[in-house]
Amino acid sequence: LIRFRAARKEFASGAVAVEGLDLDVLPHELLALVGPSGCGKSTTLRMVNRLVEPSSGQVLLEGEDVMSVDAVALRRRIGYVIQHVGLFPHRTVTQNVTTVPRLLGWDKRRAAARVEELLDLVGLDPATYGRRYPHELSGGERQRVGVARALAVDPPVLLMDEPFGAVDPEGRRRLQVEFRRIQQTLGTTVMLVTHDIDEAVSLADRVVVLSRGGVVEQVADPVTLLARPANAFVEQFIGTGR
Ligand code: ATP
Ligand code: MG
Repeated sequence: LIRFRAARKEFASGAVAVEGLDLDVLPHELLALVGPSGCGKSTTLRMVNRLVEPSSGQVLLEGEDVMSVDAVALRRRIGYVIQHVGLFPHRTVTQNVTTVPRLLGWDKRRAAARVEELLDLVGLDPATYGRRYPHELSGGERQRVGVARALAVDPPVLLMDEPFGAVDPEGRRRLQVEFRRIQQTLGTTVMLVTHDIDEAVSLADRVVVLSRGGVVEQVADPVTLLARPANAFVEQFIGTGR
């Protein structure tokens, strides 16, 4: 569904964040990207929704080079969730979730029905939470609203950058499990960036280990990754990350 072909990103500063990245993300899979800080995980993700433009190589979505697709149209097909979800502070939960649907011209009734459905899905009672403002929510609740907002127009692809980072360990585990259930129900293709190797191994269908400069060290299902690290780097990373 998403393909990276020799994708490379060198920033104006000269920093090479991603080098020679070849990777296929399969339909409906949850693919985790792990690796040390600064190795290029966020940059890799942002090349998919054009927040970052590759310096060379290609990123393809359903066979189309993302650079040839209108950025706004592209982002409608791709949900994006980051650690500090960036909810609009002066808008209620309902208004946050319906922002994109309303921009797309959905009528009020349809948008309202969608909010109820989505808040239910992420485990927030719409009657209680719909009219609250972001500052009236816990970190975990905010994160749930971020997920609901990203799913509002049912995008086939969801990019998640440390989405559970701001949540306490217990809430984090619950949110992970619920998220996995939602993802499997909807069949959403997900690229999940995380520092947490345990999170990657427990949630993902496949795990990609990146080293500095976004170089792929290993792509494997969790069991294989743990049983047969491809090299010393992977072994050390999955060892020290735990
Ligand atoms: P972390 O785990 O800390 O979030 P990361 O793996 O997400 O790290 P990136 O954010 O992709 O790493 O950054 C990769 C490299 O590119 C880093 O060396 C970073 O300093 C550099 N970099 C990222 N964004 C920019 C930018 N806009 N301009 C210049 N250099 C950048
Ligand atoms: Mg990052």
